[in-house]
Amino acid sequence: MNPKTPPKTEENCETERPLHPLLPHLLAQSAARHHHLCPRQVLGVRLGVGGLIALGLLTAEATTPFCNNNKRLLTIVETDGCGADGIAVATDSFVGRRTLRVEDYGKVAATLIDTHTGQAVRVAPTAVSRTLAQTFAPNQPSRWHEYLLGYQRIPDAQLVVVQAVALRQPLAEILSEPGRRTICQQCLEEVMNGREVVGVDGRILCQACAGSSYYTIP
Ligand SMILES: [Zn+2]
Ligand SMILES: [Zn+2]
Repeated sequence: MNPKTPPKTEENCETERPLHPLLPHLLAQSAARHHHLCPRQVLGVRLGVGGLIALGLLTAEATTPFCNNNKRLLTIVETDGCGADGIAVATDSFVGRRTLRVEDYGKVAATLIDTHTGQAVRVAPTAVSRTLAQTFAPNQPSRWHEYLLGYQRIPDAQLVVVQAVALRQPLAEILSEPGRRTICQQCLEEVMNGREVVGVDGRILCQACAGSSYYTIP
C-alpha cells in the first residue's frame, strides 16, 4: 500500500468522497464552461488528472491545479464535446493557446505530451468503467446519475488506462513554428504555423488549395 494513502476511516469511504482533492474544483470549472455538469466531463477530468499524475506533473495529493501557462503540456483529445471540456480543464490545455488539439476518433481519450521530456501517455477509460459506475453509485434516479457520480468515485486504477505511447509525427512538427506565416500562392490567404505545403509545381499552397480541404465550393 502506498504509505501516502490516508487511512480509511470507514469501510466504504471510497464511495463516500471524491478521490482526488482537486476533483470538486475541476468539476466546477468544467461545469462553468459547459453550463452544466455531465458524466463525460467527469470522465474527462479523471482522465486528464490520471495522465498528469502518470507524467509526474501532478501528485495524487495536489491541492493546486496543474498550470500550463508555460505550455509545457500538449494534449491531443480524441473527441470533441463534453469529455474534451473535462480534459481541457484538468490539463489546462486549450485550442486557443495551441496546447490542445482534436484528433476526432469519437473517443473520450487523450494523449498528454510533456514537451520538455517528450514523454507521452495516452489515457482512456477502462472497459469496465460503465459497469463500475453503477457499482460505485447505486440507487441513483437514472443511469445518467450513476455515471455522473460513479465516475467521481471509481479509483484511478479501475477507471483510467494509462499507456505510454510514441507519436508518429515528430513533436517539433506537431508544435510547428508559432508566429511563422506565409501566403498561399493560389488563394492568397495567410497560412500560419508552418501548415503550408509545397505543390507539385513547387508553389507554396494552403492545405485546401493542395487538395486536402474538408469543404468544396459548389
Ligand atoms: Zn455535457
Ligand atoms: Zn490556398
